[in-house]
Amino acid sequence: MFHHIIIFGATGSIGTSTLNVIRRNRHHFNVVGIAANTNVEKLAQIAHEFSVSNVGIFDGHAFAGKDSLFKRGTHFFVGEDGLCELAQLSEATAVSMAMVGIGGLKPTMAAIESKKTLLLASKEILVAAGKFVMESAKGNGVQILPVDSEHNAIFQCLQGNSNGFVDRLILTASGGPFRNFSRREMENIDVKQALRHPVWNMGKKITIDSATMANKALEIVEAKWLFDVPGDHIDVIVHPESIIHSMVKFCDGSIIAQMCPPNMEYPIANCLFFPGREQLAKPSVDFAEQGRLNFFAPDTTNFPHLTIIRQCLKTDNNACAVFQAANEVAVDEFLNHRIKFTQISEIVAKTLDIYPGEPMISLKSCEESVIKARSAAKVIANGFN
Ligand code: MG
Repeated sequence: MFHHIIIFGATGSIGTSTLNVIRRNRHHFNVVGIAANTNVEKLAQIAHEFSVSNVGIFDGHAFAGKDSLFKRGTHFFVGEDGLCELAQLSEATAVSMAMVGIGGLKPTMAAIESKKTLLLASKEILVAAGKFVMESAKGNGVQILPVDSEHNAIFQCLQGNSNGFVDRLILTASGGPFRNFSRREMENIDVKQALRHPVWNMGKKITIDSATMANKALEIVEAKWLFDVPGDHIDVIVHPESIIHSMVKFCDGSIIAQMCPPNMEYPIANCLFFPGREQLAKPSVDFAEQGRLNFFAPDTTNFPHLTIIRQCLKTDNNACAVFQAANEVAVDEFLNHRIKFTQISEIVAKTLDIYPGEPMISLKSCEESVIKARSAAKVIANGFN
């Protein structure tokens, strides 16, 4: 597989891992475009290393006076409209979407409309607008390759199996650093502690989401849309070693699991090379050394996001978009030391109490729900400060 690829979120954790895979397989890929929110310096470095001549930046202010960092002749794409234009670049065959939050929604839709293969890492996009993203992908005959490790695992488990035989999807969760904490210990978690994940090395937002297990709640919704399986057929099991990345249980009782070391380069390489595989021999799981794999039921008392999302999935409103937006606001408040760790889920629950989201009728209704949820969550968060 040879791709001419555009990487959105090129300076973040997933973008960096994607470029690592591409760096060791240069003859397979041509990076034709890169984009980021604000990190112009790092974008410039990447542009030089991979000879990229199309560069997008979401925040135009971050870019001011810095075009001299790039080679002469570089094409710049600024703001949301610019990123949409970049996503439709005619020489590109694939788009990797790994921007934090739903800033990548419109560029994603643009990429789908211009029929690029989509490597999707930004789960927020599917949580907020999964119905319309999947409808558009289907209508345009576009394949969405899931980068998120759990979803990539399920994607691999489903190869060669008809969807009609799927009974349940089983998402594994590391459980994060506070898996065995008491309620009292949960109350006193500070930002530094929460940013230290025991297994995965990731960006800040997703590390906090893993610590609260909001990440797993979002992943239930992501799985529902990607694989067209109802939410009440998607289970979560805590598996601290993160060797099994998820499983599919079929109607005959057989379960297929996907395993590899906990490193995002594995699922990214799977997407980049699909339907082939990367030929390089990478280290994999040594079962004798590993010894054992553990499994536990999730603690829904200490991790209420898991229960809240199940309620959201029962409604016909954009409740999952509200959940996602409120959680984003709450995580930001926590990272800025303005609220306690346990108040993150409280803000999500209270936002949903006062605003259940608009009816899920259009992409616009999803965006409107996100905007309204953000302001409602901010008001609630201010009450906690
Ligand atoms: Mg994941």
